[in-house]
Amino acid sequence: MNRKSKVYTVGAGPGSAGFISVRGLQILQQADCVIYDRLIGNELLNLIPQKAELFYVGKDHGEKSISQDEINKLIIKKAKIYKKIVRLKGGDPMIFGRASEELKCLTDNNIDFEIIPGITAASAAAASCGVVLTDRNTASSVTYITGQAADGKEVDIDFASLVKLGGTIVFYMAVKNMDKICPRLINAGLSADTNAFIVANACLANQRIVKGTVLDICRKCTDENIEPPAVLIIGKDCFSWFENLPLFGKNIVVTRDSQGNAELACKLAARGARAIEYPAFKIQDLTNSEEFKGIVKEIANFDWVFFTSPKGVKLFFGALDKLNKDARVFGAAKIACIGSQTAAELDNFGIKADFTPEIFTSIEFAKSFIKEHNPAGKKILLLRSVLADSQLAEKLSACRAQVRGVSTYSAEKVKNDVSSLARQFKTDEIDWIAFASSFAVKCFFEDFDLKIIGKTKIASIGPTTTEALKKIGITPTVEPAEHTIDGLIDAMENAK
Ligand code: SAH
Repeated sequence: MNRKSKVYTVGAGPGSAGFISVRGLQILQQADCVIYDRLIGNELLNLIPQKAELFYVGKDHGEKSISQDEINKLIIKKAKIYKKIVRLKGGDPMIFGRASEELKCLTDNNIDFEIIPGITAASAAAASCGVVLTDRNTASSVTYITGQAADGKEVDIDFASLVKLGGTIVFYMAVKNMDKICPRLINAGLSADTNAFIVANACLANQRIVKGTVLDICRKCTDENIEPPAVLIIGKDCFSWFENLPLFGKNIVVTRDSQGNAELACKLAARGARAIEYPAFKIQDLTNSEEFKGIVKEIANFDWVFFTSPKGVKLFFGALDKLNKDARVFGAAKIACIGSQTAAELDNFGIKADFTPEIFTSIEFAKSFIKEHNPAGKKILLLRSVLADSQLAEKLSACRAQVRGVSTYSAEKVKNDVSSLARQFKTDEIDWIAFASSFAVKCFFEDFDLKIIGKTKIASIGPTTTEALKKIGITPTVEPAEHTIDGLIDAMENAK
């Protein structure tokens, strides 16, 4: 056994990247191997170094799950190979996390370990719904309790003692047996009008909060189709803030690719809205092409390199990294980008754009660039999507620039199951559909008839998307002055 191997049992918090501890993230980013559970979101998994070996050991409902014994064996096996093994667990590892089995196994096998705490679901949920878990006047204790035994059945709880204690009660694994738990609390003497809160997917983009009393919370959750993971909080003081968020209660269909949708959904959630993700298309990375590899070698010979989307920037630098190269490939070439988001993405890679237009459309990009930098005789490289319109290249060529276009990505329509979204449209649940590109408009309306829209409002990110909508007979409700994702969200917020 290599004595220097160490297993880090890390609490991931509720699942999204923002809620892990700094130490947890530092260790995660140095990991040789990560063994992770269900309820850990992609946003967090994306921060794990590519070199790390990843093992999913979650227990999905319905699927054959890996046993605790197998997980223990896997940890031991990997501790013999690697130096830093991260056992990444949802919430806090020491709360309903089966930590004892794993830590005992590490102790028995004489393997070093460290435990890094995480934000447990009760804390995440309490923060989301504004419930004070303890208060010196109203609740001198908080009890964390499981609503479900290992086999999924109801647990044997001493409800009389729990009620007598008089503090806040948080039930984990609460959804399945709520209909039995609530009446038993009332039978044990808890007043039927005591506040009860359900928070599902706390602190995540698909968070749902239901507020009621011990008497009616169960019915309300059934009406609202609440599904696990959720905690049930029986508490007293509540200081709501989530309901005051500007887009609270709005259901917004997002129609980008799945990664773009996830980013947009997080931003919408931060303003209180619920994003309904409809990935209309997927992105195909074209940076593996010989053409791309060739252009990387020649890039320093250009006067200007143009990036037309944040996606293009990300893929470009990802590909450079794979080729074991860095930003020095640009040499003295200047860099232009179409909008503030593209510029911000470049900044992430340590590069300040030399030119960003005031208005983020390809036509305005061309016009203002030509006005400020006479492109005659200049060698310009456009790194962009296959689907990009030809106006930018045409305008630059018309000014006698030597323009070369190389595609870094393409997009392809995705086949989706339309029935669930169609049902939600029928019941008037959808407030907005947000379109961030003309391609998304095309893909979405290949799946849905125009009539589906009804009273739903339409948000368009900018003139090109608006044009695509108008072509099929839709005038968008809003189009922001700044054609960015943040601008799009602001526009929906201001249109309320
Ligand atoms: N160790 C974890 C708990 C694991 S048990 C922690 O400290 O949070 C799994 C239960 O945790 C779920 O059934 C649910 O009750 C709760 N849970 C986990 N993540 C949650 C989330 N994001 N929102 C609400 N409840 C969550």
